[in-house]
Amino acid sequence: AKQRGRANWIRYADGMERPVQAHAQLAGDLRRALDAGEFRLHYQPIVSLGDGRIVGVEALVRWEHPARGVVSPAEFIPAAERTGLIVPLGRWVLREACRQGAAWLSEFGPGALDKVAPNVSVRQLHDPGFVTDVAAALADHGLPADRLVLELTESAVLRGQHVLRVLHELHDSGVRLALDDFGTGESSLSLLRAFPAAIVKLDKSFVDGVELDEPGTPAADARQAVARAVAQLAGALGLDTVAEGIENQEQADRLLRLGYTVGQGYHLGRPMPAEQLTALLAARRVK
Ligand code: C2E
Ligand code: CA
Ligand code: CA
Ligand code: CA
Repeated sequence: AKQRGRANWIRYADGMERPVQAHAQLAGDLRRALDAGEFRLHYQPIVSLGDGRIVGVEALVRWEHPARGVVSPAEFIPAAERTGLIVPLGRWVLREACRQGAAWLSEFGPGALDKVAPNVSVRQLHDPGFVTDVAAALADHGLPADRLVLELTESAVLRGQHVLRVLHELHDSGVRLALDDFGTGESSLSLLRAFPAAIVKLDKSFVDGVELDEPGTPAADARQAVARAVAQLAGALGLDTVAEGIENQEQADRLLRLGYTVGQGYHLGRPMPAEQLTALLAARRVK
């Protein structure tokens, strides 16, 4: 047991790490949690940097374990992907995001919140029912297709012709696709050409320190150069951008000057339960 790697440990909300039980048991635990309704979506505002308007929300899953408290997705999404449980879990995420997005649309009208953006794993793209599931989630809840953004990572999208066909089917149905964590994967340029993306999300690693401006700080210079280049590339290809992980106003100001009009991050709004976001939208409507 002593030579186990960190991958065999899991950190819970109380800050304690405990060893993960056998693979099969974790899979069973996730399955049971899904059936018991222990997963919850939190929503993080995606904000216009110019005027602070909430233009969308990213849906982020949480596991509210009755004994262990809130478990973060970083701890269970990899296991859900390995065991295949990500397919039913992802289907639930998609449906719940569409349900909530449609509820906000009918409560606050079309101007209040343009888009809701759940994350999608590559395993879901390989599930033969995926495109049908997306269409059904939209239809069942009455959410217009152009209000749904599916966030995909480059590594997911790079996996061959079948995935590319699925992405084109989704694109043709009116759903928007976002390339998540952009800049961290490989072959971003060729990928962008082939991939029917509408949105590029600049990875947080290029936002960290982007505001630092001491001459001769090569790390900051490099981040600024990458951030600017990604904005220009996206502009040339007609893609929208979102800068991720903005933690202070200096970063927001700098990114605006580097060509970003939309951002996301703790400084602009933390991920929050749906009720909290509803209250936020209601408070803004009054103004
Ligand atoms: P992601 O898609 O890149 O989501 C952004 C993560 O950055 C979220 O972590 C968010 O809470 C965090 N974040 C946002 N702003 C800031 C900031 O200013 N500073 C810092 N330090 N962090 C910030 P979270 O919610 O823990 O999710 C982690 C990852 O888990 C996500 O990364 C995504 O890859 C995955 N994930 C979350 N929900 C789902 C889901 O429903 N399905 C799938 N397949 N993956 C999901
Ligand atoms: Ca994401
Ligand atoms: Ca991301
Ligand atoms: Ca990420």
